[in-house]
Amino acid sequence: MKFAADKMLGRLTKWLRVIGQDVAYGPHLSGYGLIRAARREGRLILTRDRALATKNPPEYLLIESDRFREQLKQVVRACRLGPLKEAFTRCVECNSLLEPIAGGAVKEKVPPYVLSTQKKFSLCPTCRRIYWPATHQQKMLEELRNLGLESPGI
Ligand SMILES: [Zn+2]
Repeated sequence: MKFAADKMLGRLTKWLRVIGQDVAYGPHLSGYGLIRAARREGRLILTRDRALATKNPPEYLLIESDRFREQLKQVVRACRLGPLKEAFTRCVECNSLLEPIAGGAVKEKVPPYVLSTQKKFSLCPTCRRIYWPATHQQKMLEELRNLGLESPGI
């Protein structure tokens, strides 16, 4: 399942990427730009824009809440996204799939403390951001847990 989120849904986009979902997002994605991108790439539109319905859009999901927690719950339920086994597989900034990378290869790019305490690193092949399962992932898991979205095995 692939999504195209309108520009009002930045926080939702980030969280969908955290749980591994493919979400196109950017300033060009609103109104007809959003519709064109969704058609071209076969993406389900996520929007807060009720007027979109008048523009003959492909399939879309009207996001009801303006709070990201409610939004995330709505999408997970509507699209049956669980279990969350794909969490932390995608770059939250640019949507690319992450690649595992050895600690030795990131030596120059992460703080020494991180290098000595973490074993698993991932690299975004597009924006070169490096990820590791430290405290920020713990906090995100906690957040997902609080939403009732946790699955065993992550
Ligand atoms: Zn990236």
